Amino acid sequence: MNYKELADMIFPDVKEISYYENKYPKRLLPEGAVVTRFAPSPTGFVHIGGLYQALVAIMVAKKTNGVFFLRVEDTDQKREIENGVTDIVNSLKNFDMAPDEGMISDTEEIGEYGPYKQSLRKEIYQAYAKYMLEQGKAYPCFCTPEEGEEIRQKQEKAKVRTGYYGVWAKCRNLSVEEMAEKIKAGEKYIIRFKSPGREDRKIKHKDIIKGNVDFPENDQDIVIIKADGLPTYHFAHSVDDHLMGTTIVIRSDEWLSSVPLHLQLFQELGFKAPKYAHISPIMKNDNGNKRKLSKRKDPEAAVSYYEELGIPSLAVKEYLLNIANSTFENWRRQNKDKSIEEFDFQLNKMSVSGALFDMVKLCDVSKLVISKYTAEEVYNNAMDWAKKYDEELVNILKDKEYSLKVLGIERGNAKPRKDIAKWADMKENIEYMYDNIFFEKNCEYPYQKISDKESIKKILELYLEKYYDENDDKQVWFDKIKDLSEEMGYAREVKEFKANPELYKAHVGDVSTVLRVALTTRTNTPDMYEIMQVLGKESVQKRLKLAIEKL
Ligand code: GLU
Repeated sequence: MNYKELADMIFPDVKEISYYENKYPKRLLPEGAVVTRFAPSPTGFVHIGGLYQALVAIMVAKKTNGVFFLRVEDTDQKREIENGVTDIVNSLKNFDMAPDEGMISDTEEIGEYGPYKQSLRKEIYQAYAKYMLEQGKAYPCFCTPEEGEEIRQKQEKAKVRTGYYGVWAKCRNLSVEEMAEKIKAGEKYIIRFKSPGREDRKIKHKDIIKGNVDFPENDQDIVIIKADGLPTYHFAHSVDDHLMGTTIVIRSDEWLSSVPLHLQLFQELGFKAPKYAHISPIMKNDNGNKRKLSKRKDPEAAVSYYEELGIPSLAVKEYLLNIANSTFENWRRQNKDKSIEEFDFQLNKMSVSGALFDMVKLCDVSKLVISKYTAEEVYNNAMDWAKKYDEELVNILKDKEYSLKVLGIERGNAKPRKDIAKWADMKENIEYMYDNIFFEKNCEYPYQKISDKESIKKILELYLEKYYDENDDKQVWFDKIKDLSEEMGYAREVKEFKANPELYKAHVGDVSTVLRVALTTRTNTPDMYEIMQVLGKESVQKRLKLAIEKL
């Protein structure tokens, strides 16, 4: 009995690896092109950290005219959740991050290097496991889980590293005959890698993000094929990223410590190892403590959260790029109209320790993104969101012609309004512009500096009687507010007021605030002239009269 015969006995029906090596030839790519992938497991909701990794992988691939593919890692079938694959595919689609190759639905895929779902690649892994067995680089292990536990306890008692290695690796030194006999006798087994490593030797790894890291060599005889015939993550990673031609493995840094094992597997399989870039997790400031965004504790960990709030996917992506490369923000400032694909993303400039997630900052980015939308785009996006999440907003927006005017206020100019961060804020943001809501709501009037009833009443009455003319252009309109201010003894210019504060009770800005509050019940609104234009004469008069009544 030799290794070859043992391998045939274990995997009688699998193909030679040369079949797969020919079936998946080396990719013909332009010089410098990089192949990256997103390889999630469908075991839970799509995490913002996953989206972050995928975005980074896309940026790197696109920048080099390379390939980005999606591989579903579903070898842990016990942990798989319903709709897991669909959620992943849809999330990428919603964020306009559809892969060049890979799964495009739960069952369909595109690309020449598939299947892109690991559970459909069983015979491929087995072919490579057989190849390892043939060379004596892998072996069947007959230890039961109970025996494994026994070994672990002994190791703990002896205060040595736990695991299946060296003298502890019981099945490692069985003869081929003994192995064959056990198999014939029907004993259950898994396949282990026969590690050639020694723990007292070091390897050097140069990670694109983490830089130079030294590790002890791997000496663990890890499982490569499990009892269900499927591979472990480690083995599938080597086989898949080899056959699929990944040139840079971009993944979470929880895998950094597995690099010695992975490099060894590539070596023993005769594959060229990819480069690695290990991404630090997104962190959160929790009352002064920096910790990982948690799947259980933090709603913002779920990608669906942003959709539910109505934060545009582009805003989320821009924000993620912000925390991925600190130079992005500056680039964005200088290149307001460029698409994010044009940003020269640098993998090696990513944070080694983990970027801090900041919802306020994300909202600022989102405000900027939405400020560049046309009124029509705001309308369509908000309406799509509202149909799913907010019926009241649907009702508000129903009058499309009027809504476009409302949303068009201070938009499309050099300094567009930046007050909307998410569609969930829209209602609150615009409802005062709709007479049916405005006159129904009994809002307080938050008058500011000029707050005595008499003065307010006089300002509003005088404005209505003498100064309001819906046909005035903006200059005339504002001059009239100045005239009104002067007539009532307020400074007609702010600077006059500042020069001689003792001469005046208030200034033109304070008078404007009275008008603004009376018209909208808000102290902060976009441009008041535009608001009045959109409201129209009838509404303006009615609102001012109501404000007088309510004094
Ligand atoms: N399926 C692994 C995970 O979700 C992927 C790691 C990798 O990208 O290689 O953690």
